[in-house]
Amino acid sequence: MRRLARVAPLLLAWTATLSLAAEQPPASVILFIGDGMDEHQVTLARNYLYGAEGALAMEQLPLRSSARVQTVREDDPGQFRYVADSANTATTLATGQLTSLGRIATSATTDQDQSTILEAAQKAGLRTGLVSTASLTDATPAAFAAHTAHRSCQSPADMAKAIGYAAATQQCMADQHSRGGKGSIAEQLLAANIDVLLGGGKRYFAQSSKGTDLQKAAASQGYKLLSRRRELLEKGPGSKLLGLFAPGHLPVEWIGEGNRRAQPIALNWLGEPQFSEPFACVDNPDHRGTPTLKEMTSAALTRLSADNAKGFFLMVEGAAIDKQAHRRNPCGEIGELRAFDLAVQAGREFARSHPNTLIIVTADHGQAGQIIPLPEYFLAWGNRQYPPGYYAVLKTRSGELMAVSYATNAPPNGRGEVHTGVNVPVYLQGIDAAQVPPLMDQRQLNRLMRDHLGLNAATD
Ligand SMILES: [Zn+2]
Repeated sequence: MRRLARVAPLLLAWTATLSLAAEQPPASVILFIGDGMDEHQVTLARNYLYGAEGALAMEQLPLRSSARVQTVREDDPGQFRYVADSANTATTLATGQLTSLGRIATSATTDQDQSTILEAAQKAGLRTGLVSTASLTDATPAAFAAHTAHRSCQSPADMAKAIGYAAATQQCMADQHSRGGKGSIAEQLLAANIDVLLGGGKRYFAQSSKGTDLQKAAASQGYKLLSRRRELLEKGPGSKLLGLFAPGHLPVEWIGEGNRRAQPIALNWLGEPQFSEPFACVDNPDHRGTPTLKEMTSAALTRLSADNAKGFFLMVEGAAIDKQAHRRNPCGEIGELRAFDLAVQAGREFARSHPNTLIIVTADHGQAGQIIPLPEYFLAWGNRQYPPGYYAVLKTRSGELMAVSYATNAPPNGRGEVHTGVNVPVYLQGIDAAQVPPLMDQRQLNRLMRDHLGLNAATD
């Protein structure tokens, strides 16, 4: 009897451990990519929204690292370039391999397909999803499920066009069906049989391939087609989702008062700088009726996790942080970074009830916006001092002033700002701190996600 009394608690502990193991929730990954979201863009949004002592939701994740952004040359993959684009960096995050500018999950020079984490997750029976504020055929979502020599090969109509600025080895013709290729990005995304596809880019799917309309083909594959915010919010449970909420990229959430952006500094007849008045950010009326990134993320998480014992891989992209920085539109940038951060918040709330979820928030590459001194600083140095690029003074939510400069391409005719070669931030939760070195690269991020999902090379 006394012996049984000693053994019983051990037995109880053993069965409790067994049932814990049985109830271990499935491993899932949510990868949030803020396009062009380097530390400068994060700080710009944080200051505007929450002030000098505030913090974004992503900055409250428990772990933090910094990632090197690496790009190899198309003409010599043994050499690096120090400024990336979204295609090659999304490829590295998706595949764990380096490539050259413009490539979508294919290798530099040799044009070999590189297998992606989304494909490995599918093979292992996990559900998958891609969510973006850009066209779904844009470089970042494309790199997780399509393989093309160039990011411009978005739709069937693009496949015969020559891309003047791309290398001879990166033309879309190489991926044409008639040459044994897999066709355009839109066709490959549908062929990939992804459970949830939400974003923009309707015009790329409103085309035919080999005589078949792509949207009809999607419906016959079992996709529920959505084109309005209301349809997304009211969708029932069940089927795969293809939401295309705009012809191209989704409209941005915020614009500047009076549609103002950064401008070159005007000079008077004495050559003295004439700084323009500060402005605040306001809602963009064109965004009405469009789902927010948070709403798309929540819808994706509901669909991917329902009755799912195997887990999922979801990529969520805040695409227009980059696109608005190219256009020197600080309110567009801040509004999109806010929308992205709210989507991260939705991911964190999901992880509270789904504890085996790894969340990684990072960027693909740097952008041009910089916080620099206010006009009073330049005026104090005399009447001829002024910033050389495009400049705006914002009235932040707390009423302070903050000046932003874009100066990577020359006014008055510079076509747009260009990417920068800075490291990008990495915020994480749901992983052991020992697995997160203070300096990483984007290939290592791919490895962390594969390890969390139990996808080793053998599942590729
Ligand atoms: Zn860009």
